Amino acid sequence: MLGLTGAATIGGAGVVSAHDKGNNADSESDSDAVTNESGIPRYELPPLSYDYDALEPAINAEIMRLHHDKHHQGYVDGANSALNSLEEMRNNNDFSEIKHVKRDLSFNLSGHVLHTTFWENMSPDGGGKPSGYLAKAINKYFGSFENFKAEFNAAAKNVEGSGWGLLVYDHLADMPLVTQAEDHNDLAVQGATPLLVLDVWEHAYYLQYKNNRGKYVTNWWNVVDWDDVTQRYEAAQYAELSGDGAPSI
Ligand code: MN
Repeated sequence: MLGLTGAATIGGAGVVSAHDKGNNADSESDSDAVTNESGIPRYELPPLSYDYDALEPAINAEIMRLHHDKHHQGYVDGANSALNSLEEMRNNNDFSEIKHVKRDLSFNLSGHVLHTTFWENMSPDGGGKPSGYLAKAINKYFGSFENFKAEFNAAAKNVEGSGWGLLVYDHLADMPLVTQAEDHNDLAVQGATPLLVLDVWEHAYYLQYKNNRGKYVTNWWNVVDWDDVTQRYEAAQYAELSGDGAPSI
């Protein structure tokens, strides 16, 4: 499976491409390739790197199990269904449903990318503060870590309806930005790389926190894996918008 850190997340979030399948001399593995008969990649649900109860008490096991196994799987299936529809449209040369299918692709693939990042942004050993270049950047662009947290908290807590709070890397100005997403894709900044994302859909907290989104956001900082976020930041600094540089053909 392609790397899941930094810019590679965009191009390789839980996807196994034909490039990995063994069609190329540089292929590292052909054991988990998922493509259709045309060699078009299909997305896969990545496993969690920790147990369902590992993030307790911040996020309980029941939420993690449902969230990963059911909700995230649903976005993976939805993205693959959109790919199937697109292939059918191409084969039939009939693009009358393109608006509907592209909307499905944007929603579900964005959901897949963000959930893949979300799981990796968290660790049972999380919490604390960032270090290295990320810490320097946060101080430079937000004034202090506390100021950054205040802006991120405000963004996450005030998402209208279902969505996300995000720290992203804007490649044009080469700086971190706090943004919001409604659903998974509305309000997105094109081309920006997600570094740290917080799911504030009710499915992410309601079973444990009921309607208290604020308490969920506060407790979530205790499981943030700053090593992962720092790696994403440092990779994004050197990344091109086109991804991890590995050719797909
Ligand atoms: Mn979710």
